[in-house]
Amino acid sequence: MNKSTRKTVIAGNWKMNMTPSAAKAFITELAPMVAGKDGCDIVLCVPFVDIAPAVEAAKGTNIKIGAENVHFAKSGAYTGEISADMLNEVGAEYVVIGHSERRQYFGETNETVNKRVLAALAGGLKVILCVGELLGEREQGITEEIVSLQTKIALQGVTAEQLKNVIIAYEPVWAIGTGKTATPEQADEVCGIIRGVIAKLYGAEASEAFTIQYGGSMNAKNAAELLSKVNVDGGLIGGASLKTADFTTIVNAAQ
Ligand code: PEP
Repeated sequence: MNKSTRKTVIAGNWKMNMTPSAAKAFITELAPMVAGKDGCDIVLCVPFVDIAPAVEAAKGTNIKIGAENVHFAKSGAYTGEISADMLNEVGAEYVVIGHSERRQYFGETNETVNKRVLAALAGGLKVILCVGELLGEREQGITEEIVSLQTKIALQGVTAEQLKNVIIAYEPVWAIGTGKTATPEQADEVCGIIRGVIAKLYGAEASEAFTIQYGGSMNAKNAAELLSKVNVDGGLIGGASLKTADFTTIVNAAQ
């Protein structure tokens, strides 16, 4: 397995934080700190209203902007929702889909995640697909079954060509926003299981090239060790992506 041939992606997930002016100020401060750090792609997934100012502030830098969700319909009577075409036109390049907070608080299911993945890809976006087990599921010993099922259903109908625009973030739900991090061995093991699922669905070559991030309380202190693991090709970072110094330290760890 050759990790060096895969793209490393360090992505921030701001969740419901930062107003548009705060987003602009953050990116203006961050840009010189991460300039020239070409060992990984750097992405900030931000609230919908922050996308346009974030894209503007990130122009001419190596920071890419993404959204935190997308609706599965092209347009129509879906009050409060945002389509892939809208995100595309405003300059978002990536979108997070299936985050555990969406699954937990907003009724997201494996099936709606799949519909959103297909819509995002059809709309020209790159997808950061989140999968991960609950604490109870890990304790029952069914982590492999859960993440495999989530991955298989989310990717139904995704072609091998489209898969090049998908990355997966393995995010154990018990580690998100809790300060509890999976051990590097746990992260590596489950990222490896996901890579195995990709191999079964799309073949060995596609799975070797496929980027799999770890997410769940990744921070400035633990990033280097997590990112050193053979199956961990980056991070999806919540809390620590709200501080320019911490986020820069994580980007540096990925060089
Ligand atoms: C996340 O929001 O995807 C996440 C991993 O959050 P945190 O880093 O705060 O645990």
